Amino acid sequence: MYSAIMKIFLLTFIALQGFSQVQTVRIIMPEDAGIVMKNAGRILAAQITGRTDVKIVKDASAQFTIELAKEQTKDPESYHIADKTKTHVKISAAEDAAVLYGVGRFLRTSRYDKNGFTPGTWRGTSAPKGKVRGMYFATHFGNFYEAAPIEEVQKYVEDMALWGINHLVIHFATWQYTSFYDAEAQKALTRSRQIMGIAKACGMKVGLLQVPNQGFKFTKNEWLNTPVPDDLRRRGHLGVNLDPSNEQAKLLLKENWAYLLDQFRDMGIDLAVFWPYDEGGCGCDQCWPWGARGYPVLCKELAAITQEKSPGVNIILSTWMYDTPPAGEWEGLSKFLNQDKIWLNYIMADAHEDFPRYPLDKGVPGGLPLLNFPEISMWGQWPWGGYGANPLTNRFQRLWNQTNNKVSGGFPYSEGIYEDMNKVICAQLYWEGSRQTSDIVKEYIAYEYSPDVVNELSRVIEILEANHNRKQIKATAIEAFDLVQRAEQKLSAQTLKSWRWRILYLRALIDREIYEHNGKLEGEVIKAAFNELTEIYYAQKAFNMSVKPPVIK
Ligand SMILES: [Zn+2]
Repeated sequence: MYSAIMKIFLLTFIALQGFSQVQTVRIIMPEDAGIVMKNAGRILAAQITGRTDVKIVKDASAQFTIELAKEQTKDPESYHIADKTKTHVKISAAEDAAVLYGVGRFLRTSRYDKNGFTPGTWRGTSAPKGKVRGMYFATHFGNFYEAAPIEEVQKYVEDMALWGINHLVIHFATWQYTSFYDAEAQKALTRSRQIMGIAKACGMKVGLLQVPNQGFKFTKNEWLNTPVPDDLRRRGHLGVNLDPSNEQAKLLLKENWAYLLDQFRDMGIDLAVFWPYDEGGCGCDQCWPWGARGYPVLCKELAAITQEKSPGVNIILSTWMYDTPPAGEWEGLSKFLNQDKIWLNYIMADAHEDFPRYPLDKGVPGGLPLLNFPEISMWGQWPWGGYGANPLTNRFQRLWNQTNNKVSGGFPYSEGIYEDMNKVICAQLYWEGSRQTSDIVKEYIAYEYSPDVVNELSRVIEILEANHNRKQIKATAIEAFDLVQRAEQKLSAQTLKSWRWRILYLRALIDREIYEHNGKLEGEVIKAAFNELTEIYYAQKAFNMSVKPPVIK
């Protein structure tokens, strides 16, 4: 009798569980699906099967159906998620890329457990506030973007599309090569085309971020620039910045720019970002102040070449490190653009620390839309990412608040995958600027780890940020690692193996080790942790120590 009751109870329990949790999923796509829509379906399937043992089936025997559809909406970038039946959800948008954003939202509200997949229950419409939700991959130094297998970079770009990223720019580091014919340069160009192709297949706009006056290694000495004032030693100089007031040097810069654009002619460049310092700049009396004279003049000429080769391209002018030290650069740029701004679409501003005051207080030069450039990668730790995840939740809330709803989006500066959480914070602030970064982090934890560990890991991430400075790691490092170990008990086998879990786990472990060894990087535990991070980043051959975790002999 007892066992019969137990059996009924158990069956009811399983049935109730089965109501929400499913083992088979069907994905329906429009018959005329293009490449981006097809990708959305493939990415959706891969996310579910990568996180659970759920099977994707093709017929109506599936316990749950997810339909992707194209439907006209007021905002082409908005998505709509609605129930068709109790076991059939439809994710629709006017643009294929927006279907991908909707897929991301649906996936993030779903659960992934040992016994199956629990489809997300969020229903409604969401439209992005920021139109330029970009990301900048600094492709240099042998970092992840240069060194990881292209399949991993592809997966990573797709992950970002799920969070609403719609622009990707990359960099061709001329100073690393002797010329375009350098075998390494050709390799880099091939890689850049691959990454851009991947981004386009996610519906992203793609472009280059370049220093307009940078040349190749061994450029003639007489063409080189006059160094710029650099009191803070943050304007960077890799030795091959040219002086565009020298006609031959300028001709070479224009030829190189045209040649570079031709390497992307097949796919078409959607945007070009010009960069003033670190790298860049010339301090000669013809160019200085660079940000007000030599730089905008040269950028305007390169913009004309760009427009000729990629009609309709958007040009973005960065003002990084303007007026540090003060030289009238902001004011001068405003005057320059008051005369002529037809060649330019956006002004980009940001800094290592606080957001620059000029565009906020005096207005954006040319009255153009403003983009930011959050420094998510390097701030306050060296080597960058060398200690694992570097979440900076409060910092990005503070910096975002400074911009006071005046930015239309931006391009976070990324050196690798360790700042994944910071990327997501920026992507979601671009989507909806009124969100709190701590709330975005909770959404990240629930999706990438588990809804069951949101409390523990929110606290861990708070502690990691408080202990960000490597010289000031406090006793809370012990609490953080304890919490990480407690969370570990609740995570699925798939999550425990994921790099996103490992970089968080290792950061907590490394901080505890540093604390317990009074600030010293020593012992087998920390050595193994650094080695594992090196493997996760594919940084074994990184040729700049900044992008490689510390090596302990
Ligand atoms: Zn000059």
